[in-house]
Amino acid sequence: MTRLVARLVLAMLMPPVALVVVSAAHVSAFALAPVDSEVLYCGLASLGGFLVMATYWTLVWRGVVRWSRRRVVMTGIAVAASLGCGVVVYASLLWVMGSSYYNYRDQYPLWFGGLTPPLAFAVLATLVWRETPTERAERHAATGADALVCPACGYSMVGQREATCPECGARFTLDALVAAQRHNETKRFEQG
Ligand SMILES: [Zn+2]
Repeated sequence: MTRLVARLVLAMLMPPVALVVVSAAHVSAFALAPVDSEVLYCGLASLGGFLVMATYWTLVWRGVVRWSRRRVVMTGIAVAASLGCGVVVYASLLWVMGSSYYNYRDQYPLWFGGLTPPLAFAVLATLVWRETPTERAERHAATGADALVCPACGYSMVGQREATCPECGARFTLDALVAAQRHNETKRFEQG
């Protein structure tokens, strides 16, 4: 399994893992909370679940993210926005269900509100962490990537001893690799 495949598997597992983590935290919070403190306890449980899942997402992707100053700041904003989304979902559902006092139905707004931040963060962080065209060009320039790239994913294959892409795992024969570079050059030429 290549690192990219491992990352993608872990990324796909994120929503079900978040479901389990947040649900378990909520069940525990409801069990432990003193009467009339359920909302507070569930809020804290949601926050804990979010921190676990945001850490998970960051650990999965941090190796391929270029941590510029701007990107670190934007990631912080994504954290705040994700928590905000959770509050909005909670408040909206509470409003829709027409109950501002505690009863068993409040568990649903709390639960959905708790599930929202991890999923919102996965979306927002992905948008923030994407490589910009400038960064891609810089990476290619730094590695001389233009000379030889993986036809499947565009990763620089300069310095490789085999015709297997270290990034996406695609395998090529040497002649196919060379032919693909020529095709790339033609395409670049045509695009001006
Ligand atoms: Zn590749």
